Amino acid sequence: MIPPHVWFTPVPTLFWSEYAEAPFSQCVDCECELQGCEFYLLQKCYVGTEPVFEFAICNTCRANMSSRCSEETNRAVQAFLLEYLRRRESEFKELTEMHDVLRKCVEQCLICNRLRAECHRYTIGGLCSEQNLVVQQGPQTQSPLMICQNCEASMSGLVSKQTRDTWDRFVEENFDGPPGVGLDVPGGTPVLI
Ligand SMILES: [Zn+2]
Ligand SMILES: [Zn+2]
Repeated sequence: MIPPHVWFTPVPTLFWSEYAEAPFSQCVDCECELQGCEFYLLQKCYVGTEPVFEFAICNTCRANMSSRCSEETNRAVQAFLLEYLRRRESEFKELTEMHDVLRKCVEQCLICNRLRAECHRYTIGGLCSEQNLVVQQGPQTQSPLMICQNCEASMSGLVSKQTRDTWDRFVEENFDGPPGVGLDVPGGTPVLI
């Protein structure tokens, strides 16, 4: 089997920090410099064209966070995503150019294929390495990705109380601005973590 293509491209503006108007520079949790970070994840939630929630997290903090979530949830979410990744693989087979893969990853919901332009609320996420976004689609993984609110809601049924509590604590600890300042926390479903 041929391994899936992996590309590295300078982080596109869609994945920049809206707040900083620049690429994410620090891990939301440990505040390490991401530009020197081998791998980190970023996530942005949109309502319409407006980003309402965003963060980047280094691989170490992400692993810590994931270990505090319930294993049952981690497994259930992974199994759920894998099913759709496998299903999508054939759609990606024809795409050999990085830009085409990137566009499809970002413009269509990973689960239901709905177009981002038709979604009112959605989440985008991506894996980054130093100053690059990783562009990749295969049976095990996809980066970047887009998930519409409906699909995110259907995933939240898989999330245990332990995972939800971990996520709530993470949000509480890292996004402690004055309440109501444009912070619209997604419904307790850590898509990527
Ligand atoms: Zn960190
Ligand atoms: Zn969807």
